Amino acid sequence: MRGSSLERIGHWVDGQHTPGTSGRTAPVWNPATGEAQAEVELASAAEVDAAVAAAVAAFPEWSGRSLAARTQVMFRFRELLEGNRKTLAEVVSLEHGKTAADADGEIARALDNVDFACGLSHLLKGDYSEGVSGGGAGAIDVYSSRHPLGVVAGITPFNFPAMVPLWMIPTAIACGNTFVLKPSERDPSASLFIADLLRQSGLPAGVVNVVQGDREAVERLLEHPSVQAISFVGSTDIARHIYQTGTSHGKRVQALGGAKNHMVVLPDADLALAADAAVSAGYGSSGERCMAISVVVAVGAVADPLVDAIAERLPSIEVGTGTGGASEMGPLITAQHRDRVAGYVAGAPADGAQVRVDGREAPATKRPGFFLGASLLDHVQPGSPAHVEEIFGPVLSVVRVDTYEQAMKVIEATPYGNGAAIFTRDGGVARRFTQEVQAGMVGINVPIPVPVAQHSFGGWKGSLFGDLHMYGPEGMMFYTRGKVVTSRWPEAATSSVDLGFPQSNG
Ligand code: NAD
Repeated sequence: MRGSSLERIGHWVDGQHTPGTSGRTAPVWNPATGEAQAEVELASAAEVDAAVAAAVAAFPEWSGRSLAARTQVMFRFRELLEGNRKTLAEVVSLEHGKTAADADGEIARALDNVDFACGLSHLLKGDYSEGVSGGGAGAIDVYSSRHPLGVVAGITPFNFPAMVPLWMIPTAIACGNTFVLKPSERDPSASLFIADLLRQSGLPAGVVNVVQGDREAVERLLEHPSVQAISFVGSTDIARHIYQTGTSHGKRVQALGGAKNHMVVLPDADLALAADAAVSAGYGSSGERCMAISVVVAVGAVADPLVDAIAERLPSIEVGTGTGGASEMGPLITAQHRDRVAGYVAGAPADGAQVRVDGREAPATKRPGFFLGASLLDHVQPGSPAHVEEIFGPVLSVVRVDTYEQAMKVIEATPYGNGAAIFTRDGGVARRFTQEVQAGMVGINVPIPVPVAQHSFGGWKGSLFGDLHMYGPEGMMFYTRGKVVTSRWPEAATSSVDLGFPQSNG
């Protein structure tokens, strides 16, 4: 792409826009037109090193500030983010393709995480045990405190270019760390917009840096000796690689992977509620959500009326340009991804499924741009590709079973464990489901159970590599390390040599 007249999207290092020097770029598409609208710089290892160096230099001053001073920056950032919400939503929509309303929802959830970071002092206050041993003036007191790690890095996916970086950055920097973000090269502008808002909020230069790039930049972050921790969100194979490589270099890693979320509908469920939920959660953001419902498991006699009710709702979904106002579903991120998703619809009959609604025939597919309509696959066979593989597009698979127990086996057969939902009026079965299902986030009559900011986000099985979930209290734990201080102020006259192992005494 060198030599083209397209806008060049560069990095953000040490508090300012920084042009790339690697000579490598990638196209940034407008998914609604199918045309390249910009070029993004792809950082070399040396450019990653420069961003990390800025973060290293900023760490002593930033981590040395009082927690109150750090959270005041967060409060100002919150105001600016709210004030620029519409503009940021447009930036997201233009590069990602999602509707402006959906992008606004993404920013709303990001704001929740900023709110949480504003109140982080409550979580960082530590514990104190007074007089654990000894007595009187010489008694021993013990207290624990949490400390920032240093430079931490985030590597983020295309599907939430504003929210996922803001799952990470507010908590990381409020804890006193400095940050290097490597956003998705497919929609790189939101992160630069956020970095500039942080600058306007009074964040010192170097505390948050953005390097655009691909695998080369990621590999350098994974091995860089000054990077203490890596937060990753993306597909499972890359998440596994990030976890294995990052930990082998001695780093703390949380790597969130892909998903295949099931929604079990029991015969006693409210049919209209379940159908509305399946359509909203299956096709919202064109299915490009890690918490999208991908498989409906219809139990018993509910299957026929449920499939009919879902199918009835699909023709009225308005597919079109994300920035267009009336659209409810935008295009997919690239032509290649659209074709991959359409391939699952094409391959379904050979695997024993019925294509009840074919999104490849939707009128929007005639337009330029990476459009695909909503598809509904019925009688999907457990274990077939449409059942077990992450499609990440507007394709909803229905697996029919006879019993709750069979539904649980269908869920267990997939390698992922991000979210799972059950629709029923039976509280006892719902409770049993929450206990038994192998997933990190569970919904009862709630199809997309993304935890609010005061709880943490993370899946099980192939949806998370690492120990701590993202944002919320576990985010704070991830971005800090503990210290325990044991202290006493004895009378010098009472001192004596004692080679025994220290133990509590009265
Ligand atoms: P992706 O795995 O292709 O890319 C994620 C990040 O990794 C990007 O920054 C990308 O540049 C980088 N990357 C890509 N290939 C790499 C490689 N070979 N080596 C090192 N880095 C590499 O994911 P995506 O397509 O951008 O996003 C969609 C995926 O993200 C889906 O699988 C979705 O389920 C997942 N996701 C998961 C969650 C979650 O919370 N579990 C949230 C959002 C998205």
